[in-house]
Amino acid sequence: QDDEGPNVESQKQEYRDNRPQNPLAARQKNLLEVRQSLPIWSQAANIRNALLENHVLILAGETGSGKSTQVPQFLHTSAWCTGRIAVTQPRRVAAVSLARRVAEEMGTPLGKSPQALVGYNVRFDDNVGKNNKVKFLTEGMLLQEMLRDPALVEYSCVVVDEVHERSVNVDLLLGFLRGLVTGTSEAAKKRKGKPLKVVVMSATADTEKLKDFFSEGFGEPRAEDNIPAVNDTTSLNKDDASVEKPQVPSASSSGKISTCFVEGRMYPVQTEYLSEPTRDFSEAALLQIFQIHRKEPMPGDVLVFLTGGDVITNLQQAIEDMIPNVITRDSGLPKLLVLPLYAALSQAQQQAIFSPAPPNTRKVILATNIAETSITVPGVRFVIDSGKAKIKQFRNRLGLDSLLVKDISKSSAIQRQGRAGREAAGKCIRLYTKPNFEALEKDAVPEILRCDLSSAVLTMKARGVQDVMSFPLLTRPSREAMERALLLLLQLDALNPEDGNISDLGRKIARLPLTPAHGRTIVAAADPEMGCLLPVIDIVACFNSENIFVEIKDQDANDEAREARNKLSRRQGDHLTLLSAVQAYASERTDRKQWAKQHLISHRSMQNVMDVRKQLRAQCQQAKLITKEELAAADDDLDTVSESTGNNILKCFLRGFPANVARLVPDGSYRTIQGHMAVAIHPSSVLYSRKLEAILYNEFVYTNRTYARSVSAIQMNWLEEVYAAPT
Ligand code: ADP
Repeated sequence: QDDEGPNVESQKQEYRDNRPQNPLAARQKNLLEVRQSLPIWSQAANIRNALLENHVLILAGETGSGKSTQVPQFLHTSAWCTGRIAVTQPRRVAAVSLARRVAEEMGTPLGKSPQALVGYNVRFDDNVGKNNKVKFLTEGMLLQEMLRDPALVEYSCVVVDEVHERSVNVDLLLGFLRGLVTGTSEAAKKRKGKPLKVVVMSATADTEKLKDFFSEGFGEPRAEDNIPAVNDTTSLNKDDASVEKPQVPSASSSGKISTCFVEGRMYPVQTEYLSEPTRDFSEAALLQIFQIHRKEPMPGDVLVFLTGGDVITNLQQAIEDMIPNVITRDSGLPKLLVLPLYAALSQAQQQAIFSPAPPNTRKVILATNIAETSITVPGVRFVIDSGKAKIKQFRNRLGLDSLLVKDISKSSAIQRQGRAGREAAGKCIRLYTKPNFEALEKDAVPEILRCDLSSAVLTMKARGVQDVMSFPLLTRPSREAMERALLLLLQLDALNPEDGNISDLGRKIARLPLTPAHGRTIVAAADPEMGCLLPVIDIVACFNSENIFVEIKDQDANDEAREARNKLSRRQGDHLTLLSAVQAYASERTDRKQWAKQHLISHRSMQNVMDVRKQLRAQCQQAKLITKEELAAADDDLDTVSESTGNNILKCFLRGFPANVARLVPDGSYRTIQGHMAVAIHPSSVLYSRKLEAILYNEFVYTNRTYARSVSAIQMNWLEEVYAAPT
């Protein structure tokens, strides 16, 4: 019998036995009580049964109802679950934080220790042990695993979390999983009859599309099943959140696919709007934070939704500057503790989010849309919503992705608002007007319709999908978008021009956890003719980390520091400047932190760069781009990069970024070679305002105009040389 739910009685007994002397056991007991109070707890038996009888479970439930942390624990003792459980997340922070939490709840160490039942694997950070039963990983990492194990043989179950975010990777994953779970794909044969179960979890109630998608895979007619009482979850979609409701789970099952809804608790959330639109939402947020702190009763933490790390850091500074003026001894106001929450967060900062505020202190969490559904921050009673988020957007005419600050969708705004009403009645302040809210798009456009598809297409090709046009996708991108991606991959020599299948070079690129452009750059650098793999890895590592250069503000930069920083600049441009910074940092053996400070370099970002560099070196060795001996011989002694090595490095980037080249035209502006678009050199570049024959750049940014960021000078005559050369 497989439906007795989590083994609560024996766990309780264990705590009773251990209680008197063992603080750890007390902690476990406390954790169990918290778990039992989660809305999903009462559904444990239903969920286990649904998967006993079906291949696919579609589980919708409000954020914070306990899906991500509890479902793996409900399943791992099921009789059918002899292999591992993978739980995928769109974001690395969430994967790591959830793994840590679940390990703690299960009372086991995390990661590589032989006792550890829980591990995680995110890009550039693999913490998985042999005996892990539950593995949290990003969608991208599971796709990477499918290169070596396309049938996911080591797994009994894949839990796909946060599907409502509709990242490209999740769409691809669903396509591959559909083939495996229905036994219709080529790879499925490799499972030799071992069943794979799939749980698809979403914070929105819109599950019809998912159900149809899997039904189609099973060759069933479109779902016309009786799904009872879907409206139970529509409280998510009401403007002003509703009162606390009884939990009315509803489920339906077809023998293959089962759906289940978990009702979360929702308290009323009073919502306020600005009467006039604001141009500066940081300042508006600052005002509201202190307003709340002065007027609203404790307890009740504040969660502010902002766009990115830079905005968050600035606002944190502004709040901290203002605190001494507002929270004086006479004011009698509680203290304020400001905590940032965004992608590049250290482990300690992550944990601070979950700890209750110290006595007589209100927490203010400044977050990106990570806190929308991915990470549930406890204690929040007040939400301030900027109405904006940074999203990836494909620029058709530029042929490139760029990160843009955009309006969020209505459903995101409602999710954000809901964060205020999880534990008690709350308040949400929208830093926009009511008509602005009404005008928002209903749902966000899936990423697959907005971004460059070259990674996605290469992902498919590398996993044996020949006809990418007919690969099963929840939302089909346009034919032109697919063709554009195929064309770029051809330009990168990742596909054979004769049959369009993946080339050997393409396979190498696909194994690297990088965009095809960066992958191609690395492969080019490994060519003995170029011989610049290690320096190129250093630069690519910078592009895959947070900015290493601290923004220079007048007050905090003394002349000495500016000069030290200027010494790192290279006249060829930003690529080699990054390289010189990494090399100087790496060669510093006494006090890197101090060195970073003296050079206005972010020590934290640099540590991250060093991490990424280490991982990339190891991956290049695995991909046979460099030998173990060569790697061992690499030292961090500082030697200057010769002119010709510098040129070779830039030629390698040129090889990976054929679309990112612009030349100076007679009116003094730069125009892209492909597409003839105007671009300007970004003010952060060492080449800012310089006039050069031609430039190569890593990315576009948009503010009021089109900027090329991370720019280097190139010579036009290199183009022919680079693109004509054989691979
Ligand atoms: P859902 O997936 O339905 O959004 P979760 O399982 O992520 O819900 O969260 C359930 C509860 O566990 C939430 O109250 C959340 O705050 C808590 N939680 C999740 N991760 C951590 C963590 N790393 N530390 C402490 N609490 C956590």
